[in-house]
Amino acid sequence: MKHFDAIIIGTGQAGPSLAARFADAGKTVAIIERSKFGGTCVNTGCTPTKTLVASAYAIHVARRGAEYGFSVGDVRVDINRVKARKDAASTRSSKGVEAWLRGMTNCTVIQGEASFQSPNSVMVNDEVLEADKIYINVGGRARAPEMPGIHDVPFLTNSSMMDIDFLPEQFIIVGGSYVGLEFAQIYRRLGSEVTIVEMGPRLIGREDEDISDAVREILEAEGINIRLNAKCISLEKRDAGVAVGLTCEEGPPEVVGTQVLMAVGRIPNTSDLGLDKAGVAIDTRGYITVDDQLQTNVSGIWALGDCNGRGAFTHTSYNDYEIVADNLFNADHRRVSDRIQAYALYIDPPLGRCGMTDAEVRKSGRRALAVKYPMSRVTRAYEKGETQGIIKICVDAETKQILGAAILGVGGDEVIHVLLDVMYAKAPYTVIERAMHIHPTVAEYLPTILGKLVPFA
Ligand SMILES: Cc1cc2nc3c(=O)[nH]c(=O)nc-3n(C[C@H](O)[C@H](O)[C@H](O)COP(=O)(O)OP(=O)(O)OC[C@H]3O[C@@H](n4cnc5c(N)ncnc54)[C@H](O)[C@@H]3O)c2cc1C
Repeated sequence: MKHFDAIIIGTGQAGPSLAARFADAGKTVAIIERSKFGGTCVNTGCTPTKTLVASAYAIHVARRGAEYGFSVGDVRVDINRVKARKDAASTRSSKGVEAWLRGMTNCTVIQGEASFQSPNSVMVNDEVLEADKIYINVGGRARAPEMPGIHDVPFLTNSSMMDIDFLPEQFIIVGGSYVGLEFAQIYRRLGSEVTIVEMGPRLIGREDEDISDAVREILEAEGINIRLNAKCISLEKRDAGVAVGLTCEEGPPEVVGTQVLMAVGRIPNTSDLGLDKAGVAIDTRGYITVDDQLQTNVSGIWALGDCNGRGAFTHTSYNDYEIVADNLFNADHRRVSDRIQAYALYIDPPLGRCGMTDAEVRKSGRRALAVKYPMSRVTRAYEKGETQGIIKICVDAETKQILGAAILGVGGDEVIHVLLDVMYAKAPYTVIERAMHIHPTVAEYLPTILGKLVPFA
């Protein structure tokens, strides 16, 4: 039986960096991958979708040429070239991860599916490997909920979307959250007729209501159909493709499309890992239970990234790696609970978010100040001709620390970091008011906006 200092299962956003830390420390490490190197982000998540967002944005701007003083004639989309660009970006990243891992001294790279045999051993390709420490970084996959007709019709997921080389004519997207909205705008801009079907009363239900409404306005302005309150979704095969039953409050009870994408959440890849043989505990949704330093209930086994349910982003998975590595190699007792919630929704314009939502502030019961400012009054936005969206910031009335913010607008995914870093510094928002920012930028408006704080209602 081969023995290693550490075994890592999965090459997502945490595993490869952790392998490098072990290898650099002169420890032997085996890293196991059953599919493409780099995991979800690189192959079926962030990289391909953001590459498609970029194509869709360029096409959108080209169509608006007259507003900027140029004409390109009829803008025609070549879906194969759009796909080729996306594939090139993903392949580059995936191959980069693989080459990095294979080039590491002390690191054994194994292609195959791993499953636990005991608390300190895993089986892969009929071989049993043993280690003092085992790190699980297996990620997740699209959820296909049990709904009437789901087994009778073909449907797409974020993974199979990567292979389509045609433009869906009438594209139905079930799920009005982050993944669904990005695909909706991408395909609308590429030329599909798009309908979003959402069970809840509004899009991105986790966000504040005004943000949901502003996002809806942005998407509807581009001709995306949005059907909310679809309480009873069902699928049925039709000659034209698929009918999605809705039972909505208003409008016809079904929409018919040529293709349907299910974007209704994700589940962890934990059911086929043999976790029971190692005694590793999972919660009712299949996420591996971990403590604040990502250790499972079994000594010597950790879980990082999407599979532990403590985050669902590339940066949370990478942050998990940093927490584990700093605890192990630097005796720096970093904890998951120290991190501040932050993410972006990559529609155009993007939404950058950090900290608490209004609902969370309200629930916390603290006295707060808040401000809301339209993007249409930001010089940089109207210079660029991209004035949709709003900026919202909420601060603690006593400590003056920022509690949360949402920047829906041009550059929102970048500008949010000004606020996020001040939050990490635990500094009062007044620091931003005294900073000199560069003109013309969206960030330069933050001091002005913070000067307009009023009691939070
Ligand atoms: C469409 C889409 C867009 C997204 N966009 C963004 C974005 O813009 N920004 C962002 O921060 N996040 C985004 N995400 C989320 C992000 O992709 C994930 O949070 C991130 O990839 C999770 O990384 P991870 O390290 O947990 O695991 P993953 O990246 O999922 O990697 C897990 C790896 O483990 C392997 N594996 C699983 N089981 C086994 C086994 N038994 N044996 C061996 N190998 C195994 C898998 O093959 C996979 O390669 C997006 C997700 C989707 C679906």
